[in-house]
Amino acid sequence: MVIEKICCIGAGYVGGPTCSVIALKCPEVKVTVVDKNKERIKQWNADKLPIYEPGLDKVVKECRGKNLFFSVDVESAIEEADLIFISVNTPTKTCGNGKGRAADLKYVESVARLIADVAAGDKIVVEKSTVPVKAAESIMNILRANQKPGVSYQILSNPEFLSEGTAIDNLLNADRVLIGGEETKEGQLAIEKLCWIYEHWIPRSKILTTNTWSSELSKLAANAFLAQRISSINSLSAVCEFTGANVSEVAKAIGTDTRIGNKFLNASVGFGGSCFQKDILNLVYICECLNLPEVAAYWQQVIDINEYQKSRFTSKVIESLFNTVTDKRISILGFAFKKDTGDTRESPAIYVAKTLLDEGAKLNIYDPKVEHAQIFEDLTYATGSKEYVKERVSLFPNAYSATEKTHAIVVCTEWDEFITLDFRKIYDGMMKPAYIFDGRMILDDEKLSKIGFHVHTIGKRNMR
Ligand code: NAD
Repeated sequence: MVIEKICCIGAGYVGGPTCSVIALKCPEVKVTVVDKNKERIKQWNADKLPIYEPGLDKVVKECRGKNLFFSVDVESAIEEADLIFISVNTPTKTCGNGKGRAADLKYVESVARLIADVAAGDKIVVEKSTVPVKAAESIMNILRANQKPGVSYQILSNPEFLSEGTAIDNLLNADRVLIGGEETKEGQLAIEKLCWIYEHWIPRSKILTTNTWSSELSKLAANAFLAQRISSINSLSAVCEFTGANVSEVAKAIGTDTRIGNKFLNASVGFGGSCFQKDILNLVYICECLNLPEVAAYWQQVIDINEYQKSRFTSKVIESLFNTVTDKRISILGFAFKKDTGDTRESPAIYVAKTLLDEGAKLNIYDPKVEHAQIFEDLTYATGSKEYVKERVSLFPNAYSATEKTHAIVVCTEWDEFITLDFRKIYDGMMKPAYIFDGRMILDDEKLSKIGFHVHTIGKRNMR
């Protein structure tokens, strides 16, 4: 066997699902996922997993205790592993040098130092976290500066392209796997060993190998391109609202061109999630540091348009409600940053809710998967006042109770269950006039208008 034991440091949205699938597909390999967060590990070992991801439960239950383990004993897992994935969070920090915001690699650094302390044999260390270009060099500097006799390291870059909400399917049926390494004999050997793991279920033709720096940059580039498509269609949605063009028709017309393709062309309230903004900021920072201000400005626009879209949408809500939402009760349907996940990081719903609260509104919030405590935590952080949030925000177990006696509904997440709601029943229970602001373009606006709602969808003239 090429690799007998794998350790993954970081049991989050990436480390957990990725290593569960590796354990499923490589039954002869022992996979240990470790985290310093005791509560998270306790949940990985319990019935209710710490993250919601379709299909994840089944995979974990099949492998847990056989060849898949979750533990807080980071040192032991490092010690025994042949291959170590670093899958810790890489948040954004504000830089003191006036060059904006960049990836904070403090967790990656502390893991590298721990590996250097603990390792007592040959280790392949794999960057799974999204990192700036050249991060592998910094990791290698730490490892080699603290290298003990009899220990050798190879660093690989193996960025993760999964999408939350479809992570298991993405992992099982990956478009590609990317592995970057040093262009030395040892580097190539390490790449081959990691290829061996993926080849258990991914055809070799879909495993791309390259040098470390191309691999690191490709991850940032992939997210920047995806976010750029969303900002592009969102920018056009504003043009549609002033001209009578319909953004759905425009998306269809351009998306059927095979050179463009139809994915990631849904106009919306804006993108969220822990990655897009962070990774673009990371790219912008690198460009600034390389003295490429024009390139930095180009990518910064993707974020600026996203901010503009969130603000434009929320202003529309307020303007439509007679320019005041003071003490009006408004329903927010959906709080996760996208459907099929309970993750709220950078969710547009947080921006919308905070702005409405700042304007004096009271909110009824419902999301099928987000924990209530998480919503309170996010809004407390956003508004800076726990008391204000407690007083003004109510959470509900379903969309019907969340919309009773409210003035307006704001759809922030594209959950499938919202499409099939009985809007006649909802309309009857609401204050009149009743408004719906569809931030995800999932509802049938004509049907809703016929019921009596004032409907506002993105990218149509009614949003003016
Ligand atoms: P996460 O916050 O869900 O998980 C990271 C985990 O690392 C946390 O549980 C944290 O406790 C743990 N951790 C941090 N420092 C540690 C240490 N020293 N020892 C042990 N555990 C430690 O983050 P995530 O969403 O899984 O993302 C991880 C990385 O993958 C990030 O770089 C992210 O940009 C990247 N990524 C995320 C996604 C996504 O959809 N979430 C997709 C692709 C790539």
